[in-house]
Amino acid sequence: MSFTVAIVGRPNVGKSTLFNRLAGRKLALVDDTPGVTRDRRPGDAKLVDLKFGIIDTAGLEETGPDTLEGRMRAQTEAAIDEADLALFLIDAKLGLTPADETLATILRKRGKPVVLVANKAEARGAQDSLLDAYRLGLGEPCPISAEHGEGMLDLRDAIVDAIGEDRALPIDEDDEAETDIDIAPTGDDEEDADAGYDESKPLRVAIVGRPNAGKSTLINRFLGEDRLLTGPEAGITRDSISVEWEWKGRRIKMFDTAGLRRKARVQEKLEKLSVADALRAIRFAEVVVIVLDADVPFEKQDLQIADLVIREGRAPVIIFNKWDMIEDRQEALADLREKTERLLPQVRGIQAVPVSGLTGAGLDRLMQAVVDTHKIWNRRIATSKLNRWLESMQVQHPPPAVSGRRIRLKYMTQIKARPPGFVISCSRPEKLPASYTRYLINGLREDFDLPGVPIRISFRKGD
Ligand code: GDP
Ligand code: GDP
Repeated sequence: MSFTVAIVGRPNVGKSTLFNRLAGRKLALVDDTPGVTRDRRPGDAKLVDLKFGIIDTAGLEETGPDTLEGRMRAQTEAAIDEADLALFLIDAKLGLTPADETLATILRKRGKPVVLVANKAEARGAQDSLLDAYRLGLGEPCPISAEHGEGMLDLRDAIVDAIGEDRALPIDEDDEAETDIDIAPTGDDEEDADAGYDESKPLRVAIVGRPNAGKSTLINRFLGEDRLLTGPEAGITRDSISVEWEWKGRRIKMFDTAGLRRKARVQEKLEKLSVADALRAIRFAEVVVIVLDADVPFEKQDLQIADLVIREGRAPVIIFNKWDMIEDRQEALADLREKTERLLPQVRGIQAVPVSGLTGAGLDRLMQAVVDTHKIWNRRIATSKLNRWLESMQVQHPPPAVSGRRIRLKYMTQIKARPPGFVISCSRPEKLPASYTRYLINGLREDFDLPGVPIRISFRKGD
Protein backbone atom coordinates (compact mmCIF):
# COMPACT_ATOMS: atom_id res chain seq x y z
CA MET A 1 0.00 0.00 0.00
CA SER A 2 1.47 3.30 -1.02
CA PHE A 3 -0.08 5.62 1.55
CA THR A 4 -2.78 5.85 4.19
CA VAL A 5 -5.60 8.31 4.43
CA ALA A 6 -7.61 9.23 7.52
CA ILE A 7 -11.10 10.58 7.15
CA VAL A 8 -11.72 13.13 9.89
CA GLY A 9 -14.43 15.60 10.71
CA ARG A 10 -17.12 16.27 13.25
CA PRO A 11 -20.06 13.87 13.62
CA ASN A 12 -22.52 13.64 10.73
CA VAL A 13 -20.47 15.31 8.04
CA GLY A 14 -20.50 12.08 6.01
CA LYS A 15 -17.30 10.31 7.00
CA SER A 16 -18.80 6.83 6.95
CA THR A 17 -20.54 7.51 3.68
CA LEU A 18 -17.27 8.52 2.08
CA PHE A 19 -15.44 5.65 3.72
CA ASN A 20 -17.93 3.18 2.35
CA ARG A 21 -17.73 4.67 -1.09
CA LEU A 22 -13.95 4.57 -1.19
CA ALA A 23 -13.67 1.17 0.44
CA GLY A 24 -16.46 -0.23 -1.68
CA ARG A 25 -18.57 -1.17 1.32
CA LYS A 26 -22.30 -1.34 1.48
CA LEU A 27 -23.96 1.97 2.26
CA ALA A 28 -26.20 0.15 4.72
CA LEU A 29 -23.47 0.56 7.31
CA VAL A 30 -24.24 4.27 7.55
CA ASP A 31 -26.56 5.08 10.37
CA ASP A 32 -27.76 8.28 11.91
CA THR A 33 -28.23 6.74 15.34
CA PRO A 34 -25.45 7.68 17.73
CA GLY A 35 -23.66 4.77 19.30
CA VAL A 36 -24.13 2.43 16.39
CA THR A 37 -21.09 0.24 16.16
CA ARG A 38 -19.13 0.84 13.03
CA ASP A 39 -16.30 -0.83 11.33
CA ARG A 40 -13.20 1.09 12.24
CA ARG A 41 -10.56 -1.18 10.85
CA PRO A 42 -8.32 0.22 8.19
CA GLY A 43 -9.56 -0.73 4.76
CA ASP A 44 -8.27 -0.75 1.24
CA ALA A 45 -9.64 2.08 -0.76
CA LYS A 46 -9.84 2.83 -4.43
CA LEU A 47 -10.45 6.18 -6.03
CA VAL A 48 -10.25 6.40 -9.82
CA ASP A 49 -6.70 5.11 -10.35
CA LEU A 50 -5.46 5.55 -6.77
CA LYS A 51 -5.21 2.76 -4.26
CA PHE A 52 -4.54 3.50 -0.63
CA GLY A 53 -5.19 2.47 2.94
CA ILE A 54 -8.00 4.23 4.67
CA ILE A 55 -8.87 4.84 8.32
CA ASP A 56 -12.43 5.60 9.32
CA THR A 57 -12.79 7.63 12.47
CA ALA A 58 -16.57 7.76 12.46
CA GLY A 59 -18.10 6.54 15.66
CA LEU A 60 -15.03 7.24 17.73
CA GLU A 61 -16.70 10.34 19.09
CA GLU A 62 -18.85 8.13 21.27
CA THR A 63 -15.93 6.93 23.35
CA GLY A 64 -12.93 8.56 25.01
CA PRO A 65 -12.63 11.79 26.96
CA ASP A 66 -15.62 13.53 28.46
CA THR A 67 -16.27 16.52 26.29
CA LEU A 68 -17.17 16.29 22.65
CA GLU A 69 -14.31 18.55 21.82
CA GLY A 70 -11.90 16.39 23.78
CA ARG A 71 -13.13 13.26 22.07
CA MET A 72 -12.88 14.79 18.65
CA ARG A 73 -9.43 16.04 19.36
CA ALA A 74 -8.23 12.66 20.59
CA GLN A 75 -9.84 10.85 17.72
CA THR A 76 -8.46 13.18 15.10
CA GLU A 77 -4.98 13.22 16.51
CA ALA A 78 -4.83 9.44 16.72
CA ALA A 79 -6.09 9.04 13.19
CA ILE A 80 -3.75 11.54 11.59
CA ASP A 81 -0.75 10.20 13.42
CA GLU A 82 -1.36 6.88 11.74
CA ALA A 83 -2.05 8.35 8.34
CA ASP A 84 -0.03 10.13 5.67
CA LEU A 85 -2.87 12.39 4.69
CA ALA A 86 -6.08 13.63 6.26
CA LEU A 87 -9.30 14.12 4.39
CA PHE A 88 -10.98 16.74 6.51
CA LEU A 89 -14.70 16.70 5.86
CA ILE A 90 -17.05 19.57 6.46
CA ASP A 91 -20.78 19.63 5.81
CA ALA A 92 -21.42 22.13 3.03
CA LYS A 93 -25.16 21.77 3.46
CA LEU A 94 -25.09 22.89 7.06
CA GLY A 95 -22.14 25.24 6.89
CA LEU A 96 -19.15 25.68 9.16
CA THR A 97 -19.48 25.15 12.88
CA PRO A 98 -17.11 25.99 15.74
CA ALA A 99 -16.24 22.29 15.92
CA ASP A 100 -14.93 22.48 12.35
CA GLU A 101 -12.73 25.40 13.30
CA THR A 102 -11.36 23.53 16.31
CA LEU A 103 -10.50 20.53 14.17
CA ALA A 104 -8.93 22.76 11.52
CA THR A 105 -6.65 24.24 14.15
CA ILE A 106 -5.60 20.79 15.29
CA LEU A 107 -4.92 19.72 11.74
CA ARG A 108 -2.93 22.81 10.87
CA LYS A 109 -0.74 22.30 13.94
CA ARG A 110 -0.13 18.66 13.17
CA GLY A 111 1.52 19.60 9.90
CA LYS A 112 0.40 16.57 7.90
CA PRO A 113 -1.01 17.12 4.41
CA VAL A 114 -4.72 17.88 4.57
CA VAL A 115 -7.33 17.91 1.85
CA LEU A 116 -10.30 20.03 2.85
CA VAL A 117 -13.39 18.26 1.56
CA ALA A 118 -16.77 20.00 1.41
CA ASN A 119 -19.26 17.15 1.48
CA LYS A 120 -22.97 17.31 0.63
CA ALA A 121 -22.03 19.87 -1.99
CA GLU A 122 -25.00 18.84 -4.11
CA ALA A 123 -27.32 20.34 -1.51
CA ARG A 124 -29.04 23.67 -1.95
CA GLY A 125 -27.04 26.54 -0.55
CA ALA A 126 -23.80 24.57 -0.38
CA GLN A 127 -21.97 27.22 -2.42
CA ASP A 128 -21.94 29.64 0.48
CA SER A 129 -20.22 27.20 2.80
CA LEU A 130 -17.61 26.56 0.15
CA LEU A 131 -16.55 30.16 0.37
CA ASP A 132 -16.73 30.17 4.09
CA ALA A 133 -14.45 27.17 4.16
CA TYR A 134 -11.50 29.23 2.97
CA ARG A 135 -11.50 30.73 6.43
CA LEU A 136 -10.22 27.45 7.82
CA GLY A 137 -6.84 28.21 6.30
CA LEU A 138 -6.53 24.80 4.72
CA GLY A 139 -6.67 25.91 1.12
CA GLU A 140 -9.29 25.37 -1.50
CA PRO A 141 -12.17 23.14 -0.44
CA CYS A 142 -12.87 20.21 -2.71
CA PRO A 143 -16.64 19.95 -3.20
CA ILE A 144 -18.02 16.42 -3.31
CA SER A 145 -21.14 14.47 -2.64
CA ALA A 146 -20.15 11.26 -0.89
CA GLU A 147 -23.69 10.05 -1.12
CA HIS A 148 -24.06 10.58 -4.87
CA GLY A 149 -20.47 9.96 -5.80
CA GLU A 150 -20.01 13.39 -7.32
CA GLY A 151 -16.68 15.17 -7.46
CA MET A 152 -14.60 12.03 -7.11
CA LEU A 153 -12.23 12.95 -9.91
CA ASP A 154 -11.54 16.30 -8.29
CA LEU A 155 -10.98 14.58 -4.97
CA ARG A 156 -8.55 12.28 -6.66
CA ASP A 157 -6.66 15.27 -8.09
CA ALA A 158 -6.62 17.01 -4.72
CA ILE A 159 -5.16 13.93 -3.03
CA VAL A 160 -2.45 13.61 -5.65
CA ASP A 161 -1.62 17.30 -5.27
CA ALA A 162 -1.41 17.02 -1.50
CA ILE A 163 0.72 13.92 -1.29
CA GLY A 164 2.78 14.24 -4.45
CA GLU A 165 2.60 12.25 -7.62
CA ASP A 166 5.50 9.98 -6.78
CA ARG A 167 3.78 8.71 -3.72
CA ALA A 168 0.27 8.68 -5.05
CA LEU A 169 1.05 6.86 -8.26
CA PRO A 170 3.73 4.25 -7.67
CA ILE A 171 4.43 1.89 -10.52
CA ASP A 172 2.79 -1.33 -9.60
CA GLU A 173 3.19 -4.38 -11.79
CA ASP A 174 0.08 -6.00 -10.44
CA ASP A 175 -2.15 -3.11 -11.27
CA GLU A 176 -4.80 -3.75 -13.81
CA ALA A 177 -4.73 -1.74 -16.97
CA GLU A 178 -8.06 -0.39 -15.85
CA THR A 179 -6.26 2.02 -13.59
CA ASP A 180 -4.41 3.60 -16.46
CA ILE A 181 -5.47 7.17 -16.00
CA ASP A 182 -3.21 10.09 -16.12
CA ILE A 183 -4.19 13.53 -15.04
CA ALA A 184 -2.23 16.70 -15.46
CA PRO A 185 -1.81 18.70 -12.27
CA THR A 186 -3.36 22.09 -12.76
CA GLY A 187 -0.99 25.03 -12.74
CA ASP A 188 -2.46 26.81 -9.76
CA ASP A 189 -0.91 30.19 -9.91
CA GLU A 190 -0.91 30.82 -13.61
CA GLU A 191 -1.61 34.40 -14.42
CA ASP A 192 -1.85 34.25 -18.18
CA ALA A 193 -4.88 32.98 -19.97
CA ASP A 194 -3.54 29.84 -21.60
CA ALA A 195 -0.23 29.35 -19.86
CA GLY A 196 0.01 25.99 -18.19
CA TYR A 197 -2.02 24.31 -20.87
CA ASP A 198 -0.16 21.09 -21.47
CA GLU A 199 -0.58 19.61 -24.93
CA SER A 200 1.72 16.69 -24.31
CA LYS A 201 -0.68 14.87 -22.02
CA PRO A 202 -3.34 12.82 -23.68
CA LEU A 203 -6.67 14.56 -23.79
CA ARG A 204 -9.25 12.30 -22.16
CA VAL A 205 -12.51 12.07 -24.05
CA ALA A 206 -15.64 10.09 -23.32
CA ILE A 207 -18.61 9.49 -25.55
CA VAL A 208 -21.93 9.24 -23.78
CA GLY A 209 -25.53 9.08 -24.84
CA ARG A 210 -28.59 6.98 -24.46
CA PRO A 211 -28.71 3.47 -25.87
CA ASN A 212 -28.82 3.39 -29.68
CA ALA A 213 -27.66 6.98 -30.10
CA GLY A 214 -24.72 5.52 -32.01
CA LYS A 215 -21.82 5.56 -29.55
CA SER A 216 -20.25 2.22 -30.50
CA THR A 217 -20.54 2.94 -34.20
CA LEU A 218 -18.81 6.26 -33.62
CA ILE A 219 -15.95 4.88 -31.57
CA ASN A 220 -15.36 2.15 -34.08
CA ARG A 221 -15.39 4.70 -36.87
CA PHE A 222 -12.76 6.75 -35.08
CA LEU A 223 -10.48 3.82 -34.75
CA GLY A 224 -11.37 1.82 -37.81
CA GLU A 225 -12.81 -1.61 -37.15
CA ASP A 226 -9.75 -3.51 -38.27
CA ARG A 227 -7.26 -1.27 -36.52
CA LEU A 228 -9.18 -1.89 -33.36
CA LEU A 229 -8.31 -5.54 -33.57
CA THR A 230 -4.70 -5.07 -34.57
CA GLY A 231 -3.98 -2.74 -31.66
CA PRO A 232 -0.59 -1.14 -30.98
CA GLU A 233 0.95 -1.83 -34.38
CA ALA A 234 -1.50 0.58 -35.91
CA GLY A 235 -0.59 3.29 -33.40
CA ILE A 236 -3.40 2.51 -31.02
CA THR A 237 -2.94 1.36 -27.49
CA ARG A 238 -5.81 -0.21 -25.78
CA ASP A 239 -6.66 -1.33 -22.29
CA SER A 240 -9.88 -2.33 -20.68
CA ILE A 241 -11.28 1.16 -20.44
CA SER A 242 -9.58 3.29 -23.00
CA VAL A 243 -7.99 3.54 -26.39
CA GLU A 244 -5.34 6.04 -27.30
CA TRP A 245 -4.41 7.50 -30.64
CA GLU A 246 -3.33 10.77 -32.22
CA TRP A 247 -5.39 13.36 -34.01
CA LYS A 248 -3.36 16.02 -35.80
CA GLY A 249 -0.45 15.40 -33.49
CA ARG A 250 -2.59 15.62 -30.33
CA ARG A 251 -2.77 12.50 -28.19
CA ILE A 252 -6.36 11.49 -27.58
CA LYS A 253 -7.41 8.95 -25.02
CA MET A 254 -10.95 7.84 -25.49
CA PHE A 255 -13.04 6.04 -22.97
CA ASP A 256 -14.26 2.88 -24.60
CA THR A 257 -17.88 2.50 -23.61
CA ALA A 258 -18.34 -0.22 -26.18
CA GLY A 259 -15.62 -2.40 -24.72
CA LEU A 260 -17.06 -1.89 -21.29
CA ARG A 261 -20.44 -2.95 -22.40
CA ARG A 262 -19.21 -6.16 -23.97
CA LYS A 263 -17.49 -7.00 -20.72
CA ALA A 264 -20.42 -6.28 -18.48
CA ARG A 265 -23.35 -7.38 -20.59
CA VAL A 266 -23.59 -10.71 -18.86
CA GLN A 267 -24.05 -9.33 -15.39
CA GLU A 268 -26.22 -6.33 -15.85
CA LYS A 269 -29.32 -5.17 -17.55
CA LEU A 270 -28.78 -2.79 -20.38
CA GLU A 271 -30.82 0.13 -19.08
CA LYS A 272 -29.09 0.03 -15.77
CA LEU A 273 -25.76 -0.20 -17.43
CA SER A 274 -26.26 2.80 -19.65
CA VAL A 275 -26.41 5.08 -16.62
CA ALA A 276 -23.49 3.42 -14.87
CA ASP A 277 -21.58 3.56 -18.13
CA ALA A 278 -22.24 7.23 -18.59
CA LEU A 279 -21.17 8.00 -15.03
CA ARG A 280 -17.92 6.11 -15.25
CA ALA A 281 -17.17 7.64 -18.59
CA ILE A 282 -17.90 11.16 -17.38
CA ARG A 283 -15.61 10.77 -14.38
CA PHE A 284 -12.84 9.48 -16.57
CA ALA A 285 -13.02 12.28 -19.06
CA GLU A 286 -12.03 15.89 -19.44
CA VAL A 287 -14.15 16.44 -22.52
CA VAL A 288 -17.43 14.58 -22.80
CA VAL A 289 -19.09 14.14 -26.17
CA ILE A 290 -22.84 13.90 -25.75
CA VAL A 291 -24.34 11.93 -28.60
CA LEU A 292 -27.86 12.85 -29.66
CA ASP A 293 -29.77 11.03 -32.34
CA ALA A 294 -30.54 13.88 -34.76
CA ASP A 295 -33.82 12.20 -35.63
CA VAL A 296 -35.06 12.06 -32.02
CA PRO A 297 -33.02 14.71 -30.19
CA PHE A 298 -33.41 16.04 -26.66
CA GLU A 299 -35.32 13.22 -25.11
CA LYS A 300 -35.57 13.37 -21.34
CA GLN A 301 -32.66 10.99 -20.91
CA ASP A 302 -30.48 13.10 -23.22
CA LEU A 303 -31.05 16.11 -21.02
CA GLN A 304 -30.35 14.10 -17.88
CA ILE A 305 -27.04 12.97 -19.30
CA ALA A 306 -26.14 16.51 -20.38
CA ASP A 307 -27.04 17.78 -16.94
CA LEU A 308 -24.80 15.18 -15.32
CA VAL A 309 -21.89 16.17 -17.54
CA ILE A 310 -22.33 19.83 -16.68
CA ARG A 311 -22.79 19.22 -12.97
CA GLU A 312 -19.59 17.18 -12.90
CA GLY A 313 -17.89 20.21 -14.43
CA ARG A 314 -16.71 18.50 -17.56
CA ALA A 315 -16.13 20.20 -20.90
CA PRO A 316 -19.15 19.24 -23.01
CA VAL A 317 -19.53 18.91 -26.76
CA ILE A 318 -22.80 17.94 -28.41
CA ILE A 319 -23.13 15.96 -31.58
CA PHE A 320 -26.19 15.45 -33.72
CA ASN A 321 -25.52 11.94 -34.91
CA LYS A 322 -27.01 9.99 -37.82
CA TRP A 323 -26.86 13.20 -39.86
CA ASP A 324 -26.95 11.06 -42.99
CA MET A 325 -30.62 10.45 -42.23
CA ILE A 326 -31.56 14.12 -42.17
CA GLU A 327 -33.12 15.64 -45.28
CA ASP A 328 -33.38 19.38 -44.91
CA ARG A 329 -30.05 19.81 -43.20
CA GLN A 330 -29.76 23.56 -43.01
CA GLU A 331 -33.12 23.97 -41.42
CA ALA A 332 -32.60 21.02 -39.10
CA LEU A 333 -29.27 22.36 -37.89
CA ALA A 334 -30.63 25.83 -37.18
CA ASP A 335 -33.50 24.29 -35.28
CA LEU A 336 -31.27 21.94 -33.28
CA ARG A 337 -28.82 24.67 -32.37
CA GLU A 338 -31.63 26.91 -31.21
CA LYS A 339 -32.97 24.09 -29.03
CA THR A 340 -29.50 23.44 -27.63
CA GLU A 341 -29.09 27.03 -26.49
CA ARG A 342 -32.55 27.11 -25.00
CA LEU A 343 -32.35 23.76 -23.19
CA LEU A 344 -28.76 24.09 -21.95
CA PRO A 345 -28.36 27.74 -20.95
CA GLN A 346 -25.71 26.77 -18.33
CA VAL A 347 -23.28 26.14 -21.18
CA ARG A 348 -24.24 28.86 -23.61
CA GLY A 349 -22.21 28.68 -26.79
CA ILE A 350 -21.62 24.94 -26.50
CA GLN A 351 -20.19 23.39 -29.66
CA ALA A 352 -22.84 21.36 -31.43
CA VAL A 353 -21.64 19.41 -34.45
CA PRO A 354 -23.58 17.33 -36.95
CA VAL A 355 -21.87 14.00 -37.67
CA SER A 356 -22.51 10.57 -39.04
CA GLY A 357 -20.78 7.75 -37.25
CA LEU A 358 -21.92 5.55 -40.08
CA THR A 359 -20.26 7.46 -42.92
CA GLY A 360 -17.62 9.27 -40.92
CA ALA A 361 -18.82 12.69 -42.02
CA GLY A 362 -18.11 15.51 -39.57
CA LEU A 363 -15.59 13.65 -37.41
CA ASP A 364 -12.80 16.09 -38.07
CA ARG A 365 -14.99 18.97 -37.07
CA LEU A 366 -15.97 17.05 -33.94
CA MET A 367 -12.34 16.52 -32.96
CA GLN A 368 -11.62 20.20 -33.54
CA ALA A 369 -14.55 21.03 -31.26
CA VAL A 370 -13.17 18.65 -28.61
CA VAL A 371 -9.71 20.21 -28.67
CA ASP A 372 -11.05 23.79 -28.70
CA THR A 373 -13.46 23.17 -25.85
CA HIS A 374 -10.72 21.53 -23.81
CA LYS A 375 -8.57 24.61 -24.18
CA ILE A 376 -11.37 26.90 -23.03
CA TRP A 377 -12.07 24.63 -20.09
CA ASN A 378 -8.43 24.99 -19.01
CA ARG A 379 -8.30 28.75 -19.40
CA ARG A 380 -7.04 31.01 -16.60
CA ILE A 381 -7.62 34.71 -16.45
CA ALA A 382 -5.31 37.12 -14.69
CA THR A 383 -6.67 38.62 -11.48
CA SER A 384 -5.85 42.17 -12.59
CA LYS A 385 -8.01 41.76 -15.69
CA LEU A 386 -10.85 40.27 -13.69
CA ASN A 387 -10.87 43.15 -11.25
CA ARG A 388 -10.95 45.77 -13.97
CA TRP A 389 -13.73 43.82 -15.61
CA LEU A 390 -15.72 43.51 -12.38
CA GLU A 391 -15.53 47.25 -11.93
CA SER A 392 -16.79 47.96 -15.45
CA MET A 393 -19.59 45.43 -15.13
CA GLN A 394 -20.82 47.26 -12.04
CA VAL A 395 -20.62 50.62 -13.77
CA GLN A 396 -22.69 49.31 -16.67
CA HIS A 397 -25.23 47.67 -14.46
CA PRO A 398 -24.87 48.24 -10.72
CA PRO A 399 -25.98 45.55 -8.28
CA PRO A 400 -29.26 46.39 -6.58
CA ALA A 401 -29.56 48.32 -3.36
CA VAL A 402 -31.08 46.42 -0.47
CA SER A 403 -32.64 48.39 2.38
CA GLY A 404 -31.03 51.53 1.10
CA ARG A 405 -27.51 50.20 0.78
CA ARG A 406 -26.03 49.17 -2.52
CA ILE A 407 -24.44 45.72 -2.65
CA ARG A 408 -20.78 46.09 -3.54
CA LEU A 409 -18.66 43.55 -5.39
CA LYS A 410 -15.10 44.34 -4.47
CA TYR A 411 -12.58 41.82 -5.59
CA MET A 412 -12.49 38.88 -7.94
CA THR A 413 -10.11 36.08 -8.66
CA GLN A 414 -10.15 32.81 -10.54
CA ILE A 415 -9.64 30.03 -8.03
CA LYS A 416 -9.61 27.17 -10.44
CA ALA A 417 -9.76 26.01 -14.02
CA ARG A 418 -11.21 22.80 -15.47
CA PRO A 419 -13.91 24.21 -15.37
CA PRO A 420 -13.26 27.91 -14.70
CA GLY A 421 -14.29 28.86 -11.15
CA PHE A 422 -14.24 32.36 -9.68
CA VAL A 423 -14.64 33.92 -6.27
CA ILE A 424 -15.95 37.42 -5.76
CA SER A 425 -15.93 39.18 -2.43
CA CYS A 426 -19.23 40.84 -1.83
CA SER A 427 -20.59 43.08 0.92
CA ARG A 428 -23.81 41.07 1.28
CA PRO A 429 -23.59 37.88 -0.77
CA GLU A 430 -26.85 36.50 0.60
CA LYS A 431 -28.75 39.46 -0.85
CA LEU A 432 -27.31 39.30 -4.34
CA PRO A 433 -30.05 38.14 -6.73
CA ALA A 434 -29.48 35.12 -8.97
CA SER A 435 -30.12 37.33 -11.98
CA TYR A 436 -26.99 39.31 -11.14
CA THR A 437 -24.91 36.14 -11.00
CA ARG A 438 -26.26 35.22 -14.42
CA TYR A 439 -25.35 38.67 -15.70
CA LEU A 440 -21.79 38.15 -14.49
CA ILE A 441 -21.51 34.63 -15.90
CA ASN A 442 -22.82 35.72 -19.29
CA GLY A 443 -20.44 38.66 -19.22
CA LEU A 444 -17.46 36.46 -18.38
CA ARG A 445 -18.34 34.17 -21.24
CA GLU A 446 -18.50 37.04 -23.71
CA ASP A 447 -15.63 39.16 -22.55
CA PHE A 448 -13.10 36.43 -21.84
CA ASP A 449 -14.20 34.09 -24.58
CA LEU A 450 -15.41 31.16 -22.50
CA PRO A 451 -18.23 29.70 -24.60
CA GLY A 452 -19.73 26.32 -23.94
CA VAL A 453 -18.10 25.35 -20.64
CA PRO A 454 -19.58 25.40 -17.15
CA ILE A 455 -18.58 28.55 -15.26
CA ARG A 456 -18.83 28.78 -11.51
CA ILE A 457 -18.91 31.92 -9.44
CA SER A 458 -19.01 31.89 -5.67
CA PHE A 459 -19.33 34.88 -3.42
CA ARG A 460 -17.41 35.45 -0.26
CA LYS A 461 -18.47 37.92 2.34
CA GLY A 462 -16.05 40.79 2.53
CA ASP A 463 -16.45 44.49 3.28
P1 GDP B 1 -20.37 10.58 9.87
O1 GDP B 1 -21.01 10.70 11.20
O2 GDP B 1 -19.42 11.69 9.61
O3 GDP B 1 -19.76 9.24 9.60
O4 GDP B 1 -21.53 10.79 8.79
P2 GDP B 1 -22.38 9.71 8.00
O5 GDP B 1 -21.56 9.14 6.88
O6 GDP B 1 -22.99 8.75 8.96
O7 GDP B 1 -23.47 10.65 7.33
C1 GDP B 1 -24.31 11.46 8.12
C2 GDP B 1 -25.56 11.77 7.35
O8 GDP B 1 -25.25 12.58 6.22
C3 GDP B 1 -26.25 10.53 6.80
O9 GDP B 1 -27.64 10.72 6.92
C4 GDP B 1 -25.84 10.51 5.34
O10 GDP B 1 -26.82 9.88 4.54
C5 GDP B 1 -25.75 11.99 5.03
N1 GDP B 1 -24.81 12.24 3.92
C6 GDP B 1 -23.58 11.74 3.74
N2 GDP B 1 -23.03 12.18 2.59
C7 GDP B 1 -23.93 13.01 2.03
C8 GDP B 1 -23.96 13.79 0.82
O11 GDP B 1 -23.05 13.80 0.00
N3 GDP B 1 -25.06 14.54 0.60
C9 GDP B 1 -26.11 14.56 1.47
N4 GDP B 1 -27.15 15.35 1.16
N5 GDP B 1 -26.13 13.83 2.60
C10 GDP B 1 -25.06 13.05 2.88
P1 GDP C 1 -25.00 2.76 -29.00
O1 GDP C 1 -26.01 1.94 -28.27
O2 GDP C 1 -25.10 4.21 -28.62
O3 GDP C 1 -23.60 2.25 -28.91
O4 GDP C 1 -25.44 2.73 -30.55
P2 GDP C 1 -24.88 1.84 -31.75
O5 GDP C 1 -23.58 2.36 -32.19
O6 GDP C 1 -24.97 0.42 -31.38
O7 GDP C 1 -25.94 2.23 -32.87
C1 GDP C 1 -27.34 1.98 -32.74
C2 GDP C 1 -27.99 1.86 -34.10
O8 GDP C 1 -27.89 3.09 -34.82
C3 GDP C 1 -27.29 0.82 -34.98
O9 GDP C 1 -28.29 0.16 -35.74
C4 GDP C 1 -26.41 1.65 -35.88
O10 GDP C 1 -26.18 1.02 -37.13
C5 GDP C 1 -27.22 2.90 -36.07
N1 GDP C 1 -26.36 4.05 -36.31
C6 GDP C 1 -25.30 4.46 -35.56
N2 GDP C 1 -24.73 5.57 -36.08
C7 GDP C 1 -25.45 5.88 -37.19
C8 GDP C 1 -25.35 6.94 -38.16
O11 GDP C 1 -24.50 7.84 -38.12
N3 GDP C 1 -26.29 6.92 -39.18
C9 GDP C 1 -27.25 5.98 -39.25
N4 GDP C 1 -28.10 6.04 -40.27
N5 GDP C 1 -27.36 4.97 -38.34
C10 GDP C 1 -26.48 4.91 -37.33
